Amino acid sequence: MPPVDRKRVVALDKARVWHPYTEMSHYRAEVDPFVIVEARGSRLLDANGREYLDGNASWWTCTLGHNHPRLVAALQRQAQSLCHTALAGIAHENASELAEALCAAAPDGLEHVFYSDNGSTAVEVAMKLVIQYWAQNGRPERTRFISLEDAFHGETVGVTALGGVDVFRAPFAPVLADCDHIASPGASDTDIEGAVEALAEVLRKTGDSVAAVVLEPMVQGAAGMHIYEAEYVRKARDLCDRHDTFLICDEVFTGYGRTGPLWAVQHAGVTPDILCTAKGFTGGMLPMAATLTSERIFEGFLGDRSRAFHYGHSFSGNPLGAAVAREVLRVIEDEDILVRARPKADRIAEAFDEMRSLPGVAATRSLGMIGALDLEGDEGYLADAGWRVFDEARERGAYLRPLGNVVYVTPSINIPDDDLDRLLDVVQQSVAAVTKG
Ligand SMILES: *Cc1c(COP(=O)(O)O)cnc(C)c1O
Repeated sequence: MPPVDRKRVVALDKARVWHPYTEMSHYRAEVDPFVIVEARGSRLLDANGREYLDGNASWWTCTLGHNHPRLVAALQRQAQSLCHTALAGIAHENASELAEALCAAAPDGLEHVFYSDNGSTAVEVAMKLVIQYWAQNGRPERTRFISLEDAFHGETVGVTALGGVDVFRAPFAPVLADCDHIASPGASDTDIEGAVEALAEVLRKTGDSVAAVVLEPMVQGAAGMHIYEAEYVRKARDLCDRHDTFLICDEVFTGYGRTGPLWAVQHAGVTPDILCTAKGFTGGMLPMAATLTSERIFEGFLGDRSRAFHYGHSFSGNPLGAAVAREVLRVIEDEDILVRARPKADRIAEAFDEMRSLPGVAATRSLGMIGALDLEGDEGYLADAGWRVFDEARERGAYLRPLGNVVYVTPSINIPDDDLDRLLDVVQQSVAAVTKG
């Protein structure tokens, strides 16, 4: 392959490409983007021939590292026979086998799989499922949602209603569905009892009109890696049962071993009525997602044709994505990924504990393959302290995109120990360089 013309890529990029979460005049004038030409394992290779450790597994997706040979092989094999077919009235081996494997790997009681394209649609599907379920099963007044302050559930207008991060929500607030945002157990100023009481209270007041309670179990990712106790998920399950409403767990980020077990709800021993997965679902190789449901919800759509779930995507169940997602579950088992991640998680916990004593660091936390620290000073997504750490980390060979003042790592779950040690060193040195005052 001829070398990439870096200058041309950047010129066309700045002329034409509108980047996510990016103010483009600043980007055009100030930002020298990474131009990535290859990726392997936990490393990104840029057009200058320089390697960078991928500190967030490319937006939390590449849980098994980039270009895992078995995933690449599964994709190539599948591409030779069937790249795509619609899923309406058509079955194919990959969608079938994947659904069976997924239900076997999921918490007991999740029995059916609805495929879509990404994390946002996985949650959008869940919202539409519960609204239609209640509408055609005798409780049409159940149309409201409850979610947490600082929640993040994706980008469609539907799921934006559930989101509690103001920067992502405010521009669209006038057109969003009804949702009560309640105190989060992950917030630094809320204790677990207070958060449970907040949920109990809103259910007491409005429980009869609630379609579902929606949670990111154990950790609110986009909020800034706000980690909370399993007890809250258990209590939320109990409260949903008591009010006969549904619990939707959004495992788009937390699933596939990110927090330790395959699913974060396993910390709590809880089965939600609906579980949403994406990101690690295909090991970050293809955009594909799944929404798993209980038997009760599935049965609520049986009967005459008008009761069908009238929802689908062009690429629902895409055979390429399904082949890769099926192989992801096999790799996790064959390579004992979750057990082998435990000492890596310990290493992350230890390193972030140590960083608590750095000047300028207000707090640190970790869970599974997540480590995060808050820099002192301005808080929130638009704070820029994290970006100074980002620049320092780039110099030292790591891609360390922050969430405002929160600096974090979410590397691939199978990151080699040496790469992990180096990544943690880079975090420590970069934070120290920015905060030494
Ligand atoms: C990333 C994320 C989403 C959205 O997924 P996309 O694939 O980006 O649409 C939804 N929920 C959670 C918890 C996420 O972290």
